Amino acid sequence: MTVTDTQNMIRDIMDQLYDDESFLPEETGEIRKRLFESGKEILTTTDKVIKSYIRVTRDDRSIERIPAFRVQHNNIAGFYKGGIRYNEVVNEQEVENLAVLMTLKNALHELPYGGGKGGVVISPDQYSRRELYMIAKKYVQRFVRDIGPTHDIPAPDMGTDAETMDWMVGEYKTINPGENYLGSFTGKSVENGGARGRRESTGKGTYRSYLWLLDTWVRQTNRNSVAEGLHRDQYDRMKRLIEKHDEGKAITLAVQGFGNVGAVAAEMAATCDRLNHRVTAVSDQYVTLYHENGLDVRALAGYQRRMRHLPQTAEALEEAGIQAEVRDRDELIYLDVDVLILAAVEDVIHGGNVERIHADIIVEGANAPVDGTADRVLHEQGKVVIPDVLANAGGVMVSYVEWKQDRVTELFSEEQVIREMYEQMEASCEKVFDSYFTDGLPGIRNSCYVQALKRLFILHYRHGKLY
Ligand code: NAD
Repeated sequence: MTVTDTQNMIRDIMDQLYDDESFLPEETGEIRKRLFESGKEILTTTDKVIKSYIRVTRDDRSIERIPAFRVQHNNIAGFYKGGIRYNEVVNEQEVENLAVLMTLKNALHELPYGGGKGGVVISPDQYSRRELYMIAKKYVQRFVRDIGPTHDIPAPDMGTDAETMDWMVGEYKTINPGENYLGSFTGKSVENGGARGRRESTGKGTYRSYLWLLDTWVRQTNRNSVAEGLHRDQYDRMKRLIEKHDEGKAITLAVQGFGNVGAVAAEMAATCDRLNHRVTAVSDQYVTLYHENGLDVRALAGYQRRMRHLPQTAEALEEAGIQAEVRDRDELIYLDVDVLILAAVEDVIHGGNVERIHADIIVEGANAPVDGTADRVLHEQGKVVIPDVLANAGGVMVSYVEWKQDRVTELFSEEQVIREMYEQMEASCEKVFDSYFTDGLPGIRNSCYVQALKRLFILHYRHGKLY
């Protein structure tokens, strides 16, 4: 999805809200029209795009010029917030789009943040640790005037981690002696003010969004309150899964991507004490591992932590004492399972392969793994897609906890951190699923964006920013 697609979607939803007379009913006629037009303009305009070049001396003494970005989309709901992505193909438009999506994600979950994002055009595995350290320091030097604990708070994203944030916060402190520095970056190591449980938070939150929908929402919702047609088909499909579980059969599940998000989500499913799952397949960038009676996910997660990838051969599996068949990497998404958790890369399910997907529920742990065309087709087939903006927000929720604890210099326990994240995730899920299923909105993703844009629009309105 490009930034233009996202802006068009914002315009469409603002038009829907304009037509919805129950939303801001006190404003009518010409004034209402003007307010919505200006809201549309503001929300489709990025506040600031900063581009710079980082000059770094490579280990062989050559000098390289690396493009780097920080984009700040909107801060009506709070300080700009969003990760810094290191990737060889990242570009200004991608960073801008991700910044807009952060504004929407933070608004949906009612976090006191706006949307921002950063990018550095490198493939991190091509650089030594010393070079990466220099790049992190230079990034802060270039953008220091635009970041800070009460202005714009970066975090890790693809290609960056707690160590990168530790280096960055160190440089921020050197440049700003005597200032509050800890809250200027989140996703730091626990020793450096990071939140306990941050690494697992996105995987746990992703799993929680699915568990809440199936085991709480479906059980507590009467079929007659669900809008007729596709929405009821989706409800019936989920009800069948719950009945399968209640009859003592396992719900089958496959997880694409076995890193921070996927391995944790797979372990949560395999060890869940509320729903009985059989995780029949997991994959990483090299292989799919399959076992029809269920994989030993805990053993695989232990192997992955040691080796940084899944076992790739029958011999490696035997040596690790794990039973599985090695299959082609891309086979996983086409398997006949009930639930598919996508936790790897973008655009995995698209117009060209969507007809081959069997799963009834698809959960987006990764960002944008289902493209717009596939999303529409899956919806029309009565399948349920829990979108990224809802499902994978556990990380930013825990970043908020980290930012709060850095202000009071107190470390919350992992249990407190995860409990707070679960409460927030469940509140967001309730809001989205209730309105989607009972009001019959045209898609769960659409329902998320409607909630987010309502909040953003009202904030602009109350701040007197619409004219
Ligand atoms: P990670 O690098 O820890 O793990 C990614 C996994 O995907 C690895 O197992 C890798 O081998 C696998 N993979 C890569 N290409 C693949 C392919 N083509 N097929 C199958 N597997 C493949 O990354 P992560 O932190 O787990 O993030 C995964 C996704 O979740 C990314 O899209 C990221 O933007 C998104 N996300 C992560 C967080 C977070 O807090 N970590 C938060 C929000 C969104």
